[in-house]
Amino acid sequence: MNIQVQICGIAIVIFLLIMSLNRKTIWLRSKRAFIVALSSTLIALILDTLSIVAIVGASGNYTTFTKAICKAYLISLVWMAFTMNYYTSIDVGVKNTFIHAHKIIAQIFIIIITIVIPLLPVNIHYTKRTDLYTYGPAVLATYGAAFVYSIVNVSILVAFRKKMNHRRWASEMTWMILLVSAAIIQFLHNYLLIIGFASALGILIVFIRLENPESFIERETGCFNDLAFNAYLDQCYNRGERISMLIIQFSNPHYLYERYYTESINDFLKEFSKVLDSSTKGQVFKYREWEYVITFSRKISLDEAAGAIHQALDREWIIEDSVANIELVYTKIPDSFIARDAESMLEMMRAFRRDYSNSPETNLVMNEKWTDGYLREQEVEDMILSAIRDDRVIVYYQPIFSTTKNQFVSAEALVRIVDEEGNLIPPGAFIPVAEDTGLILQIGKIVFEKACRFMMEEKLYEKGIEYLEINLSAVQCMRADLADVFTKIINNTGIDPKMVNLEITESRAISSTEILISNMEKLRTIGVQFSLDDFGTGFSNLDYLLELPINIVKFDRKMTQAYFESEKRRAVMGGVINMIKAAELEIVAEGVEDGHQLEELSRIDIDFIQGYYFSKPVSKEKFLELIN
Ligand code: C2E
Ligand code: MG
Ligand code: MG
Repeated sequence: MNIQVQICGIAIVIFLLIMSLNRKTIWLRSKRAFIVALSSTLIALILDTLSIVAIVGASGNYTTFTKAICKAYLISLVWMAFTMNYYTSIDVGVKNTFIHAHKIIAQIFIIIITIVIPLLPVNIHYTKRTDLYTYGPAVLATYGAAFVYSIVNVSILVAFRKKMNHRRWASEMTWMILLVSAAIIQFLHNYLLIIGFASALGILIVFIRLENPESFIERETGCFNDLAFNAYLDQCYNRGERISMLIIQFSNPHYLYERYYTESINDFLKEFSKVLDSSTKGQVFKYREWEYVITFSRKISLDEAAGAIHQALDREWIIEDSVANIELVYTKIPDSFIARDAESMLEMMRAFRRDYSNSPETNLVMNEKWTDGYLREQEVEDMILSAIRDDRVIVYYQPIFSTTKNQFVSAEALVRIVDEEGNLIPPGAFIPVAEDTGLILQIGKIVFEKACRFMMEEKLYEKGIEYLEINLSAVQCMRADLADVFTKIINNTGIDPKMVNLEITESRAISSTEILISNMEKLRTIGVQFSLDDFGTGFSNLDYLLELPINIVKFDRKMTQAYFESEKRRAVMGGVINMIKAAELEIVAEGVEDGHQLEELSRIDIDFIQGYYFSKPVSKEKFLELIN
């Protein structure tokens, strides 16, 4: 029975070794460690079988030779535990100092064990084929050492659980649990020789879940896939290995999809991958559906390597018997160290792709200039995030003067961030990044809620402030849940919706006005009003003016100033004002900086004035002083 089980185990491990070695693979450190663990498991299984054969063959008459085989088996068992332990510590990370120290101690320990076990006596118990085992000091030392490795291994897995990928963690834990349980069973019932087989099963699980070379290979093209790239990149950063990269993207996949059968496209990609692979010494990865990444060691000149690839790929590609129009974009990343780790490099690659998605340029470089801009944007993003977290997003108010009532009747809420040093950061410095990253949604909510609370807590409506104007970003307008989110805030703060006027701006980001208008209609039914902000700076102003359910048009500062610049402009502005008035809308002129402008604008029927002449945007406290 025992022999059969051992042979099954040997068959499994040999199969795994063949599978691991005959596929092309990236030699990650974890892969090497896995091969070592596989080999040591195989050796242990073979020695286990040999020792059984030797014991049975000797039938009571144990020579030094029989005992030597038994001891060799015992040593191989400890080595198996050691190599598993080594595999796990590679996985946890190379930079950790605890792991580093542990690795050295584990290596010293295995040397000591390898020397000590042969010196200790071993006893053999044998009655029949199914009742044989070894015991005595050498066996105890073996179990002890293997146990120590296993306990340390489990402890590492538990301690670094959060740092490890869950899939890896679970597979390695299963491996360990299998082995430790088998060892305990065998220790208690020493005629059951199951450790070898249990470790073969455990390593099979690790192979299937983690180390199957197939999982690193894309089926259609046979190239390494994104998983392989991520693992490789991770290793480069962990080991402090600097590389350069070339990204090749197809810029017209739609053209191919529309024209050819999927099968033909797959054939083409196979051919393309082959040509690419043979044109370079670099490691080729098919990173995404229409994107390859080729990595180079820094010893190779990126320009030369890229040139050779360019030359090889720049040829006629035949799909379905005709020449296909293949458009490629090449992006060079000369130095991987512009990012601090694999994750930030992947993020940078995404950001770069986004930035240049509409560029006609076909030869791009992720150079320092771009990286600096990107990093600055990251800093702004971090600043916004920390400001949101620490409640440093604040609202300033700029009064709006009614030319008919001759007093302040409203104010515009304008966001500011107080940075960690206490400086006031104007919206121009962070709104664009907030819009790119989606953080504007949170900022927008904060501003809206704070403005509503200010109105209610200070009873501004009793001081002549009839409503507050609050800016909406295009990103907010395009959210289907905007109306619900704002209605909830209105209900929570108890503000009368008539005291809310939302400013919307024309923007390329508003690709269709459908969601925008649906949001506006929902909010209008409860009484919220709308202004069209920045009139005079955007495009298709008239469309917006007529299509959107607004009450007020706000002239941008440049538009207001234009009125005072020349006779011609004044005449045109007069026409625009008449047109707006004909649509029964009111007008706010922004950016009024002196008394003369105020007088003139009041004379020509501008309803409201907002500008430095009255006040810059000010804090809540200053604003209260101002209107009191
Ligand atoms: P905006 O909505 O057109 O706001 C008017 C801007 O013009 C304010 O700049 C204001 O300080 C400035 N301004 C007003 N009167 C004068 C004047 O007489 N002279 C000059 N030189 N400038 C004047 P601010 O506060 O820097 O805001 C800039 C832009 O940032 C705003 O333009 C708006 O588009 C955006 N913004 C501000 N707060 C928010 C917000 O809470 N959400 C969103 N999405 N955008 C906001
Ligand atoms: Mg505004
Ligand atoms: Mg404006």
